[in-house]
Amino acid sequence: MDAIVLHGVTKRYPDVTAVDGLDLEVPEGICLGLLGPNGAGKSTTMRLLTAQSLADEGEIRVMGLRLPQQSKQARALMGVVPQLDNLDEELTARENLEVFAHLYRVPRQERRAAVDRALALAQLTDRAATRTVNLSGGMRRRLLIARGLVHQPRLVLLDEPTVGLDPQVRQELWSLIVRLREEGVTTLMSTHYIEEAERLADDCALMSHGRIVARGSPEELVKEHAGAEVAEHYASQERQAEIAALAAEAGVPTRRTGPSISLLKSEQLPRSLEEALGPPNVRRPATLEDVFVVLTGEAVE
Ligand code: ADP
Repeated sequence: MDAIVLHGVTKRYPDVTAVDGLDLEVPEGICLGLLGPNGAGKSTTMRLLTAQSLADEGEIRVMGLRLPQQSKQARALMGVVPQLDNLDEELTARENLEVFAHLYRVPRQERRAAVDRALALAQLTDRAATRTVNLSGGMRRRLLIARGLVHQPRLVLLDEPTVGLDPQVRQELWSLIVRLREEGVTTLMSTHYIEEAERLADDCALMSHGRIVARGSPEELVKEHAGAEVAEHYASQERQAEIAALAAEAGVPTRRTGPSISLLKSEQLPRSLEEALGPPNVRRPATLEDVFVVLTGEAVE
């Protein structure tokens, strides 16, 4: 079964169509990375899945339940981790989790074990009695995730889980997300960090202007859209424009990066193009970042 199904979903705001006929299916048990530049519609998609926002058109199902009609039942089955930290600073780590265990209707006699389990998963057992205001940024973020897991949901929505965090904290959160997957929890994670998707996601859906423009494992996406190798030519802006025109004529995707222009799928360049360009300055393996730039037209972090 698919844990999430979006079919022809559209969400319009007065000035922009944030989600535009979106089709997306997330099979149970995988971690899907919803990847896209700022403004692509990732957060709006997340809000539609929690029924915080209502679609203008289309069909949404979560764990087989229809949204928004059955959103209450659906919410009980999913764990939602918001982008913004809205923990109660006056409460301890344990108390923050207890409040949510109560809200999620974890039976009274099971609450303590549920909270202990969530604390352990987030490696916060020894901080259980610490007031949230005294936790480090990384600990708070882990607590925020633990809070979304306290009722042992089978589906977790993570909205930009590591945005704005320093690399070490990000690594800690990645380990936590890997543990979730090992437990068989379905995870939908929005991110604009390529590396995050590359490391954690079984499957990536690349979003741009409210639609999915490509879908597959990171390896499949790289192979299909960027090939095996990228050839970089360092050249003046004029020469780069010439190279871009020649490549476009031959149907070869390119990307510009300041002093150089890169030709994707360079292992299969037409002979005539290779001769016209001469040898590249650098050859390197293609990456998911190349795919992202070619398909969305945007640079990323
Ligand atoms: P992402 O999460 O990929 O950065 P968003 O879903 O936040 O993208 O935004 C998609 C588009 O919808 C953007 O152009 C954004 O300005 C617009 N948008 C998002 N939320 C609202 C809102 N509440 N009101 C009006 N426009 C919005």
